[in-house]
Amino acid sequence: MKLIRNLAFLLILHSVVFISSAHPKDSTSFSLDSSLLILKRDTAQKLEVNSDFWQNEVYNPYKSHSQKFPFCISFLSETYASPILRNKVITSRYGWRNNRAHRGIDIDLITGDDVKSMFEGKVRYVRYRRGHGKIVVIRHPNGLETGYAHLSKTLVKANELVKKGQVIGKGGNTGNSRGSHLHLEVSYQGVFINPEYLFKFDNSNKIRANSIWVTKEWASPALHSSKKQSEIVVCKSYDEAMKSKVKKIHIIRSGDTLWDISIMYGVTIDYLCRLNSIAKNSILRIGYPILISR
Ligand SMILES: [Zn+2]
Repeated sequence: MKLIRNLAFLLILHSVVFISSAHPKDSTSFSLDSSLLILKRDTAQKLEVNSDFWQNEVYNPYKSHSQKFPFCISFLSETYASPILRNKVITSRYGWRNNRAHRGIDIDLITGDDVKSMFEGKVRYVRYRRGHGKIVVIRHPNGLETGYAHLSKTLVKANELVKKGQVIGKGGNTGNSRGSHLHLEVSYQGVFINPEYLFKFDNSNKIRANSIWVTKEWASPALHSSKKQSEIVVCKSYDEAMKSKVKKIHIIRSGDTLWDISIMYGVTIDYLCRLNSIAKNSILRIGYPILISR
C-alpha cells in the first residue's frame, strides 16, 4: 500500500516536472529545483544537488559522506545524449584491471573528437589530474555526476550550466592513457557506479529504467571484469534491490593461501575452486579478487 502511495506521488511529481519544463525558465534557474524534489523523495538523503558538497577544487567532495545501499537514481528522460558522435566501442569496462579498480569505461575515439555532456547539468570540476589528464565532471539535476577524462582540450568552466548534448571538450590521450579514448565515469554522492548498469552503450542511447536502484554489486569494481560485460539485471524497486544477492569477495593479500581463505569465510577449498574456476594449486596473485559467494 505504501509502495502504491509512493508511486502515485512520484507520478504526480513527474507530471508536475513535465508541465513546468514546458515553460522555459531563465538559464540560471535551470531545472535543478524541480528534479531535486524527486531526488529527495527517492533517497531520503536530503542533499541539495546544487550546493551540498559542491566543490570546484576537489575531485570527489563526498569523501566524508557515507552512502547507504541500495539507493535510487531517477531519470526524467528515457535517453541520454551520446558523449561521442561515432559508434561507441568500449575498449575497457568498469572492473578489476591490473590489480587495480577501473572505475569507469573506456570508449574509443580520435583525438579532437567532440565530447558531449550526457545530460544537462552544472560543471563542478575542470582540472588536470595525474591519472585522468584533463577531466570535466558535471553534476546533473538528479544528483548523478558524469566525468569525462583524458581530454585534449576542455571547453567549459567550473560552475557553468551545460545543456544535454553540449560539447564540453575534445577527446584525447592526456594523463595516464595509452591511445586516445574517453574514460567515462558515473558517480552518485561519491559512489562510482558501473556505467553499463545505468546506460546502454549501443546506438539507442537508452537509460535502462526511469528509476534504478543501485546495490553494492554495481559499485564494486572487484566484482566485474574490465574485459567482459557483466550480466545486467536492473533493480527497479527497493524490494528487488533487497532481494538481489550481493556477491562477496576477498582481495588476495601477501601470504594468503586457499586454506587461510576457506577458514576465514567458513567455506571449503573445493567450493572456492569451483566458484573461481581455479585449481587447488593455482598461484594466488596479490591484489586479485577471489569470489567467496555468489
Ligand atoms: Zn579508463
